[in-house]
Amino acid sequence: MKILCVLYDDPKDGMPTSYPVRNLPELEKYPDGMTLPTPKAIDFNPGELLGCVSGELGLRKFLEERGHRLVVTADKDGENSEADKELVDADVVISQPFWPYYLTRKLMEKAPKLKMAITAGIGSDHVDLQAAMDHKVDVVEVTYCNSISVSEHVIMMILALVRDYHNQHRIVNQGGWHIADAVKRSFDIEGMHIGTVAAGRIGWSVLRKLKPFDVHLHYFDRHRLPEEKEKELNLTFHDSVESLVKVCDVVNISCPLHPETEDLFNDELISKMKPGAYIVNTARGKICNREAIARALESGQLSGYAGDVWFPQPAPNDHVWRTMPNHGMTPHTSGTTLSAQARYAAGTREILECFFDEQPIRDQYLIVKDGELAGMGAHSYSKGSVTEGSEEAAKYKK
Ligand code: NDP
Repeated sequence: MKILCVLYDDPKDGMPTSYPVRNLPELEKYPDGMTLPTPKAIDFNPGELLGCVSGELGLRKFLEERGHRLVVTADKDGENSEADKELVDADVVISQPFWPYYLTRKLMEKAPKLKMAITAGIGSDHVDLQAAMDHKVDVVEVTYCNSISVSEHVIMMILALVRDYHNQHRIVNQGGWHIADAVKRSFDIEGMHIGTVAAGRIGWSVLRKLKPFDVHLHYFDRHRLPEEKEKELNLTFHDSVESLVKVCDVVNISCPLHPETEDLFNDELISKMKPGAYIVNTARGKICNREAIARALESGQLSGYAGDVWFPQPAPNDHVWRTMPNHGMTPHTSGTTLSAQARYAAGTREILECFFDEQPIRDQYLIVKDGELAGMGAHSYSKGSVTEGSEEAAKYKK
């Protein structure tokens, strides 16, 4: 079989020869008891860079030994990209949310042999799920592999925004010591009302990590958490996103992108937020309206916006989120720490082993199967497509 793997570019200076953390901590289970990926073997050292082209997710030896062909490329956008050319006779495509290969209906129509799209990470919105259902292309992702990684990033971003870390760091880098400038937008989070849109794996972990900060915790989700979980963290449940944003100083977004959540944070919803609130969005860029966020930061309706997700990705060089005031954006990195890479590389291999050996793939990994939303996908996604507009990614110039 032919496996097409679309990964981000190698580091500009080549692959690292050493790493700051020598040994990753050993984890056996995720916080809810789900086991980490269980491939029969791995051919990489956990903690090394695997998510870029030369890293190949550690898959080449395994695939070639089984007689398969692996093609890896970062060239994914614009007419005649390498990925588009290779897709035509591919059986499996692997892509990552950080450097998403937007698998649109048009592309799927050109790939008659395609059987499966694997997301080496979490969040399969870069695949037109409706088209995948129509073309009987299965879609799977490595559920939980980087949820905790993302929740750590969220905590970092909430503190960085509210305490205004970026400004203070910049002053030091510029040789300065002007403390009044450094603190004129700096607050404690203690006592603040902090809410999350979705209390799934990431959202729940964010809430749990925030508890010791003595803040008031709120959440909105499609399904309410069990009473004992609400009590454990003293959570206030909101039955609508409007109700949550009205009272929160900081709003975290941790729901998947699907037709129900696309453009959720638009001018209208932002105008209902507590004036001067902060947003942290590590879910998906398209959940927030690009221009509305920039406008709200300009007007002061929002005091800050941080996150690592954009639309499209890579973001065009003139994307307004690169230059809007009081932002704390990073490129899409929160779920691709070297720690997370070890898990999603192992998870991808587990999925491929099951696929080749005609064994069932874990239900938790399934998004689309046999033309229907399935497993996790049936629980967290809704039918439809959210890939429109992705061709703008071709505007990014290295
Ligand atoms: P989970 O599936 O554990 O959680 C998703 C939660 O979102 C579920 O509780 C689900 O509710 C809820 N949800 C779905 N639709 C809505 C809606 N319309 N309104 C409110 N809540 C909703 O996933 P994770 O927490 O692991 O990941 C969440 C998302 O974060 C991913 O889909 C992905 O987009 C993004 N992500 C980003 C990463 C990054 O690197 N920045 C890495 C990993 C994920 P219910 O189950 O009750 O229906």
